[in-house]
Amino acid sequence: MRAGNLTVAVFPRTLAFKQPAGTSRGVYHERKVWYVVVRDGDRTGIGECAPLHDLSADYTPDYEDTLVRACNHLQQTGEVDAAGLERYPSVLFGLETAMLSLAAGGSRLGDTPFSRGECGIEINGLIWMGDYDTMLARIDGKLQAGCRCMKVKIGAIDFAAEVDLLRHIREAFPASRLELRVDANGGFSVDEVRGKLDVLARFDLHSIEQPIRAGQWAEMGSLAAGSPVPVALDEELIGVYGRDNVARMLDATRPAYIVVKPTLHGGMTYGARWIDEARSRGIGWWITSALETNVGLNAIAHWCAARQTTMPQGLGTGQLFTDNVDAGIEMRDGRLWFVRDVPNGEMLEKICQWT
Ligand SMILES: [Mg+2]
Repeated sequence: MRAGNLTVAVFPRTLAFKQPAGTSRGVYHERKVWYVVVRDGDRTGIGECAPLHDLSADYTPDYEDTLVRACNHLQQTGEVDAAGLERYPSVLFGLETAMLSLAAGGSRLGDTPFSRGECGIEINGLIWMGDYDTMLARIDGKLQAGCRCMKVKIGAIDFAAEVDLLRHIREAFPASRLELRVDANGGFSVDEVRGKLDVLARFDLHSIEQPIRAGQWAEMGSLAAGSPVPVALDEELIGVYGRDNVARMLDATRPAYIVVKPTLHGGMTYGARWIDEARSRGIGWWITSALETNVGLNAIAHWCAARQTTMPQGLGTGQLFTDNVDAGIEMRDGRLWFVRDVPNGEMLEKICQWT
């Protein structure tokens, strides 16, 4: 990229959720994102910086200053300062996406079977906790829609009630029909977690995400080593920087899986490092979005498609907002498909309509 020809602008936007979205740190009613728009002559590129309030390590009071500094660096040098942005994964991801988008001219960000529309990425459906009938109906609806892997959030309501719900789900849908993942979002205490995992193991679960709070590497390591349910780490990856620390964390905890979210875990550059380090240790992985709009979700999907993986991924967050940018992706048959290369001008027009 020739330096000096780029202009970089930031468009902050606030989107409303159709239904309040629960995460491990509370409930979101609306979502602030920053679109990064790069121009080079008559070419345009669009990226999305979407830190999660309270969850992202990089969402600090000086977030916008950091973003502006990173954009200025890009404008002056023509390069994304990946080394300087390791601690700002959502900024890094937005700028990386904008530059890929600038080169592509539209929302097709690669050359893979996914980007050619030949195959979709299998997705785990998200099932929110509710009463039995509602949950079973939701699961049935997703199975009808072709989804064979679902994820249930646990650790939020009474454990006995959650176990009851899982029992109902398994009675209705055996493991041969439904791969079931659960996510505790760090909700169990170290003292109680072993007993709870023994109970959960009765339900033929694929994995449990983040059974105990992040930051307890020794406890997580002994837990993962003997767990009757394979352990997947998610929040544990947040705020772990530098190859040495990544290696130290993975060696101390030895999970069965890690869940990589580019917005939270290092953008594309360091997200890829997480995957490489996991692979070299025989640790499985899948990729998940983090409530981005379709600009970010589309970039994550293309990034995911460029990695060799056959496991269902967690990219099912596309229909959460009352309004969204059409980036040419859609859910069908339990898969995320790329169906149309949307010109960047068209996406930018949509973003400019939101004020
Ligand atoms: Mg999780």
